[in-house]
Amino acid sequence: MPSPSSSSNCAVAPLLPVVGAGTTVPLVTGEEVRYVGLDVAATSPALVPVVDHVQRLLGYYGSVHRGAGFASQVSTDLYEASRQQIGVFVGARADDAVVITRNTTDALGLLSHVLPADSTVVHLDVEHHANLLPWRAHHAVVVLAAPTLGETLQRLEEAVAGSGARLIAVTGASNVTGEVLPLDLLADLAHRHGARLVVDAAQLAPHRRLDIAATGVDYVALSGHKLYAPFGAGALVGRRDWLEAAPAYLPGGGAVREVGVDDVEWAPVPARHEGGTPNLVGAAALAQACRVLAGVGPRAIEDHERALHARLEAALEAVPGVRRLQVWDDAPDRLAVSSFVVDGHDHGLVTAALAAEHGIGVRDGRFCAHPLLARLAPGGTAIRVSLGVGTSSEDIDRFATALAAVVAAGPRWTYERTEAGWAPTPDPRDLDPFAIRAEVRRETSACEPAS
Ligand code: PMP
Repeated sequence: MPSPSSSSNCAVAPLLPVVGAGTTVPLVTGEEVRYVGLDVAATSPALVPVVDHVQRLLGYYGSVHRGAGFASQVSTDLYEASRQQIGVFVGARADDAVVITRNTTDALGLLSHVLPADSTVVHLDVEHHANLLPWRAHHAVVVLAAPTLGETLQRLEEAVAGSGARLIAVTGASNVTGEVLPLDLLADLAHRHGARLVVDAAQLAPHRRLDIAATGVDYVALSGHKLYAPFGAGALVGRRDWLEAAPAYLPGGGAVREVGVDDVEWAPVPARHEGGTPNLVGAAALAQACRVLAGVGPRAIEDHERALHARLEAALEAVPGVRRLQVWDDAPDRLAVSSFVVDGHDHGLVTAALAAEHGIGVRDGRFCAHPLLARLAPGGTAIRVSLGVGTSSEDIDRFATALAAVVAAGPRWTYERTEAGWAPTPDPRDLDPFAIRAEVRRETSACEPAS
């Protein structure tokens, strides 16, 4: 096994308890092992205190803003308190709006919906599709990231000055490389030219302290399921005026003050953009995750993840043919996300073998950032490993041993390429532990006419 550097050699326990930490999974070879999830950047496990909170609130669960009963009153109050808690977590200004959305994609879609007509939006080519595609409904100016952040900021400034842009859209941290952008400098840059700054904080929010008031960021978008609160809520937080000036994002119940047969008066923000019954469980879970993460402190989270990331990077360095992806030579900070290519190996086959033969979950592909992958990875795809507060050094060591073995000797099992990627063939594992597929099969076959 590649030996991690001595500075990162001591054992590191998970910082916070997550649900599923002891889950075991079957391997194609017949053993059962503890699952190691190293795809936290895609979706993170739930924090135990978040699930406890949800369990408790379900005892009072009722309709938000729509009922006279005690459960409804408690639920409404909890929903609004959760909104405030999310605002506090990102350092919102007193007059900022906090709109509960489904996720980051939805939050950025909402901002795109309320953007004043004829706006120009400047963004980098390194963005996740969620922070790239919505701007194409407006005048979008794409700036190619330069090899240094300094030069990239210069290019952004020229693009903003030259286009009269109203908005700069940037990722807080790349979901591919983990590189963190200097938000205070970007906010200054935007404001110098009369533009606003929106930060896609899907990756940044779970791992670094966000303070939009202090840094001058105008809007921030985030997802609960990446913040250890996988109950279907996210948020857009920021300046109220554009949100107040636009019609409802999702017209319907709750978004209105008054409806006539052929006219409507929209409700004030945030209700205006939260049409339909609100997701109380999602909002409360997200707020509880914010509370728990703030309680343990950003410093402790950063220290934990840095120690494990150093161990991971040392292990990757020791595997022949591995080349790590990065955009900039001078990013001042990086989250614990490593994407890499392995020369001479099919990335999908490597990740399939890690899963089926070692019980390790990582991701391969293009990570919803096609333009960036086309630039950074010659074959177009890479492997990504990402970690969080529930990760331990044992997880990293298991991954390091397994990757070294797969790269050195190839898979030990046989695999077939399917539409969904490489699949072990045969696959003796039971992939339906809930027995739902079996039940549906039974029920549908019972409905089939006898031949
Ligand atoms: N932005 C970034 C940087 C992301 O990593 C992701 C999720 N991979 C998104 C946006 C979209 O998040 P969601 O799928 O929760 O909408």
